[in-house]
Amino acid sequence: MREGVVTKDDLEAFRRRFSEWLERNSPDWWPRTIESIHRRIYDDIIPQMRAWQRRLYEEGWLGYGVPERYGGKGGSRLLEFVIHEELAKRSAAPVLNRIGLVTALPILLSHGTDAQRERYVPPILRADEIWCQGFSEPSAGSDLAVLACRGEIKGDSLIISGQKVWSSLAHIADYCLLLCRTGKVEDRHRSITCVILPMKSEGVRVSPIKQITGETEFNQIFLSEVRVPLENVIGELNQGWNIAMMTLNHERLLMCMEMLAKASAAFNRFRGMIEEVGESDKTYWKARAVDLLIDLEKSKALLESMMNLAQRGEVGPETTIMKLSATNAIQRTYLTINEYLGGGATSDADGCDISWFRGMLWSRGRAIAGGTSEVLRNIISERILEMPR
Ligand SMILES: Cc1cc2nc3c(=O)[nH]c(=O)nc-3n(C[C@H](O)[C@H](O)[C@H](O)COP(=O)(O)OP(=O)(O)OC[C@H]3O[C@@H](n4cnc5c(N)ncnc54)[C@H](O)[C@@H]3O)c2cc1C
Repeated sequence: MREGVVTKDDLEAFRRRFSEWLERNSPDWWPRTIESIHRRIYDDIIPQMRAWQRRLYEEGWLGYGVPERYGGKGGSRLLEFVIHEELAKRSAAPVLNRIGLVTALPILLSHGTDAQRERYVPPILRADEIWCQGFSEPSAGSDLAVLACRGEIKGDSLIISGQKVWSSLAHIADYCLLLCRTGKVEDRHRSITCVILPMKSEGVRVSPIKQITGETEFNQIFLSEVRVPLENVIGELNQGWNIAMMTLNHERLLMCMEMLAKASAAFNRFRGMIEEVGESDKTYWKARAVDLLIDLEKSKALLESMMNLAQRGEVGPETTIMKLSATNAIQRTYLTINEYLGGGATSDADGCDISWFRGMLWSRGRAIAGGTSEVLRNIISERILEMPR
C-alpha cells in the first residue's frame, strides 16, 4: 500500500479484517433500543465510549492519514472512513470524539502549527479530549459569512463574545473549533478567524437543547468576554473561511458514508419484510423497493467517485451533489418503511439502533446538517453549473 493512497482491493481487504475483528469485539453495552440513545451516550456511558475509542486506536484501527509523529499510523484517511462506515452498518458503538476526528484533526494537520498538532492531535485520537464545532449562530446558519460572534485582539489574546447554536457534543467537549469575526462585518467571509476555544475557559456557558426525539444532542454556547491566547488561532487571522469550507467537505464525505451504510442496512431489513406480504400487495411493494435500491446504489456510486477525488486531494463543491443524492435516498428509504409499517413504525427496529420512526426523524436532520438541501441546490447551480445567482 503506497503512503496516502489505497486501491479498491486494499480498502476491501482492510474492511474484511476490521469487520472480522468487530464481529468478535463489538461492545455489548451499546444501547440498541429506541430509548433516548443520545441521552444515554452522553450522560451514562461516556466512560465506556471513551474506552471504546481508545481501544479502537490502540488496536490499530484509528489514526490513518495522521503522521506517526502525531500519534497516527500514516497511510490513507480513507481507511479510517471504512471504520466509521462499518460501525454504522453494523449499528455498533460509534467513536465518541467524531468531531475531533473528522473535523478538527484534518484541519490541524492541514492548517495548524507543529506545536498545535503535537498538543492536540494525540488526545483527539485517544478520546482523551473531546471536541465540538462552533460554527452556526441564531442568525447565521446557511449563510455563515454573516456570523456575529466577535473576537477582539487585545495584547496576545482574542477576547471572544457571542452565541453559538446547534453545537453537537458541546456539553461534554473540552475544546471547540470556533469561528469568530475578527474584522469588519462588511468584509463577510474575509474577516472570519478559526480558533481553538478551551470549553473550560471563564465566560463559556453551555445550555443543552431538547430535540423532537427527546434527546439533547445539541447545545447553545454563550461566550462572554472569553480570553483565548492568539496562539490558538488556526491558520492566519481573518483566513478562517477556507478552513470552514474544507471542514464541511470532510464532514459531508463521512456523513454520507455513515448514512448510506445505515440506510442500506434498513433497506435490507425492509426487503425481508416484504417477502411476508400477501400476493395482492407484493407487486406494489416490490416496485417501491426497486426504486429505493436504485436511489441508494446511485448515491453509493457518487460517494465512491468522491472518495477517489478525496484521495487525490481534489474534493470540492461536488460533495454537494453527493450529499443531496444521499439525503434524498435515505429520506425516501425511511419514509417508505414508515408507510409500509404504519403504526408499527414506532416500535424498535430490532437489531438496528433506532426505531423506524426515529430513523425517519434522523433522516430529516441529515438534510440540514452540513448544508441544507435548498442551499446545496444553490451551490450546485452557482458553483458547478455556473448559473447566475
Ligand atoms: C444533526 C445536526 C447537527 C449539527 N451539528 C452542528 C454542530 O456541531 N455545530 C454547528 O455549528 N452547527 C451544527 N448544526 C447546524 C447546521 O449547520 C445548521 O442547522 C445549518 O447550517 C442550517 O442553518 P440554520 O439551522 O440556521 O437554518 P437557516 O440557514 O436559517 O435556514 C432555514 C431554512 O431556510 C432555507 N434557506 C436558507 N438560505 C436559503 C437560500 N439562500 N436559498 C434557499 N433556501 C434557503 C434553508 O434551506 C432552511 O430550510 C447541526 C445541524 C444538525 C441538523
